Amino acid sequence: MEKAKKSYKRLRSAKELNRVVAEFYLECHEAKARGKPVGWMPPMNGVIEIFYAMDLQPVFPENWSPVCAAFGLAPRNFEVSAGMGFSRDLCGYLRNIVGYVYGPMNEEGTPLGGLPEPDLIISAYGGCVPAMKILHTLERRFPEAKVHTSELPQVGYEKIRPYHLDYCVSETHRLIEWLTETTGRKLDYDRLKEVVRLSDRACELWDEIMSYRRFIPTPISAAELGVMFVMVTRQGTQVAVDFLTGLRDEVKERAEKGIGMIEEEKLRLFWDNIPMWYNMGLFNYFEKMGGVVVAETYSAAWSMRLDPDKPIESLARKSLVSYPMVSCTSIKKRRDMVLKACRDFHIDGAVLHSNKSCVPITLGQMDMKRALEEELGIPSVVIDGDHMDANNFSVAQFQTRADAFMEMLLEKKGLTP
Ligand code: SF4
Repeated sequence: MEKAKKSYKRLRSAKELNRVVAEFYLECHEAKARGKPVGWMPPMNGVIEIFYAMDLQPVFPENWSPVCAAFGLAPRNFEVSAGMGFSRDLCGYLRNIVGYVYGPMNEEGTPLGGLPEPDLIISAYGGCVPAMKILHTLERRFPEAKVHTSELPQVGYEKIRPYHLDYCVSETHRLIEWLTETTGRKLDYDRLKEVVRLSDRACELWDEIMSYRRFIPTPISAAELGVMFVMVTRQGTQVAVDFLTGLRDEVKERAEKGIGMIEEEKLRLFWDNIPMWYNMGLFNYFEKMGGVVVAETYSAAWSMRLDPDKPIESLARKSLVSYPMVSCTSIKKRRDMVLKACRDFHIDGAVLHSNKSCVPITLGQMDMKRALEEELGIPSVVIDGDHMDANNFSVAQFQTRADAFMEMLLEKKGLTP
């Protein structure tokens, strides 16, 4: 098994991100110590804004899994969940967090202090099956926690109809009533509007930052992808807006001055599927032959807007569409999204991560490969891996395939390494 390896970061904002991450976990632990209700919830969902508006503390167990992978904690957590009977074919996010909470949770020396135990669990039907099952499984570990189950419909992006949204609106109201009854805290609608405004501003800034990746050379690459932490944990707060404003200014300045990620950007690459969180340094590997990963599937999850004058409707819609933006969608829709990104970001070649532990995003990659070649003339390479489990990934095989792929791309462009 390979050791966890971080990517090499070139943006000033990367340092600022370390502070934002540390402060988030500190805030979570302080909230618990002060008696502020702590709620565990799925990411990419409109629940976070309601929590911030009601002065409750959101915590994201699914997001803790990439943190564990980055700190090298995942293998031990996998052992625990395997011992409980969870198959190695299941999603690594699920296997890791289940192993963590039933195993070494918050033992001494855990990075960032680990996760505070939940007073509330918001268990949502929506997204993929593992995303739902994570919280269902964790409920049993914390029998004292109060559980709310949101019954969101499982519906693909292009099949969302007004009645799906109406139903999500009623579920959002039901959640607010439950939180009020359970915690004694009332929701101030003006405060919610302000939180939704901040959330919308974060999405707007996110889109603007991503749009600068169209520049040649790109001013930000996938090696800096950790910045999405603020979109997962801080949406609806001034912290996210301030961080993203600083990042936008930095990226804009680099784009306007023509400052790229490496001295000479020769190949612009697209990465399909989730990164390998235990080895983000792979994104730098392509640089030795002038390759930069300028776009990827995952960052599309926050490309949406919210209407602060219709906060409940906006959050209901967010809960419904954010998973389908990346994973729970038809193969055709995903293929169209990838082709559009490859066109928009002037991609020379696509790296398709065939992710053993995320079936929803891996499905349809062969159709995508064919479409990229036939419709855009863009070659692609398939890399076998796993976004969480390093045992399902071979660095040597990756390097062999990546080297051959880049040599072929350079030759196609009439360039030398
Ligand atoms: S979309 Fe993939 S990575 Fe995310 S929870 Fe589902 S199976 Fe796991």
